[in-house]
Amino acid sequence: MNARTTPLAQEMAAIIAAEGPLSLDRFMALALGHPRYGYYMTRDPFGAGGDFITAPEISQIFGELLGLALAITWQNMGAPEGVVVAELGPGRGTLMSDALRAARAIPAFAETLEPHFVETSPVLMRAQAARLAQDGRDANWHANIDSLPEDRPLLILANEFFDALPVRQFQRAGDHWHERLVGLDPAGGLAFGLAQEPAANIPFAAPEGAIFETSPLSLDIMRRLGERIARQGGAMIAIDYGHAKSGFGDTLQAVKAHRFVPVLTDPGEVDITAHVDFAMLAIAAQRGGALAHPLLTQASLLERLGIHHRAEILKRKAENPAEIDRAVARLAGTDDAAMGLLFKAIAITAPGMAPPPGFEQPDPRLS
Ligand code: SAH
Repeated sequence: MNARTTPLAQEMAAIIAAEGPLSLDRFMALALGHPRYGYYMTRDPFGAGGDFITAPEISQIFGELLGLALAITWQNMGAPEGVVVAELGPGRGTLMSDALRAARAIPAFAETLEPHFVETSPVLMRAQAARLAQDGRDANWHANIDSLPEDRPLLILANEFFDALPVRQFQRAGDHWHERLVGLDPAGGLAFGLAQEPAANIPFAAPEGAIFETSPLSLDIMRRLGERIARQGGAMIAIDYGHAKSGFGDTLQAVKAHRFVPVLTDPGEVDITAHVDFAMLAIAAQRGGALAHPLLTQASLLERLGIHHRAEILKRKAENPAEIDRAVARLAGTDDAAMGLLFKAIAITAPGMAPPPGFEQPDPRLS
């Protein structure tokens, strides 16, 4: 079976043989985060020669606009002395680097902020350190959000972070939900199956065969960030691909070299993500005591933050202005091939605070 071709697939098969089938979230956590073989732990997957490309790698404008949005948010907070700018899942550090450069437009903000990264991958931590060193800056790293400073307001960015966090799935069968598990087929390869015992505590029904997907880790992180932001002050902008309204369906996908591949094939060698349920994220942040502002499409957020204006300025000095037009079309375009509608942005703030720039009005594209 080719599902056993990677060392991680063999290790998973051994765990299943010893302990029984894996829940999908355990499978995904191992596939992405296994200390030795996990996908993010061993490589830098981004860019044309990698497996996928993300918004900050498409154009510097993305990080610049978010950096300015944070600077204005900080001013709206009354320009507090000392503030943490934290990024979750920062990849190569490109977004932070571009954001910090743009933040220099508001020198008092640039001087008082301290950059923090929440990252689990040693390979990517090195890339982030190298990237900030180019700018003459240092940063602080955290394995999870718990050790972020507690004595100052938090301004948090996350791009394509929540889609990488593990999900669980439950399938409706008869009058019950059964958890989807990863077990072994007769040949010893990894295969999907259903738990025999029904799952307790899912308080709604659905048509036969429907799949309910949820990311307990994402909701836990969002609730705890909501608590922190409510207590310490601050805001968060998180951007990802996903849906504005909760629904049923399997959104798990695996990608290798810019192509979709089966999810159980070659664990550790392929990127695995799931769509983000923004409605649930908003509820989790509110449970923590923060305010969740109406969701925006990435297209509307970037337009409102001035992507076209910024692109015109960059084009004046660019060797290849058409390249900038292409990047803008990819980031903020609304056709199927572009990211503008599939990607959404959520903003969380401390109660009583004005929404970050761009989030003042709901998005007509989502009504
Ligand atoms: N934000 C970057 C990278 C997105 S890829 C960009 O837009 O280019 C996902 C990132 O999240 C990677 O940096 C990965 O190592 C990190 N990551 C994945 N799971 C994580 C976890 N549980 N805790 C912290 N970081 C995680």
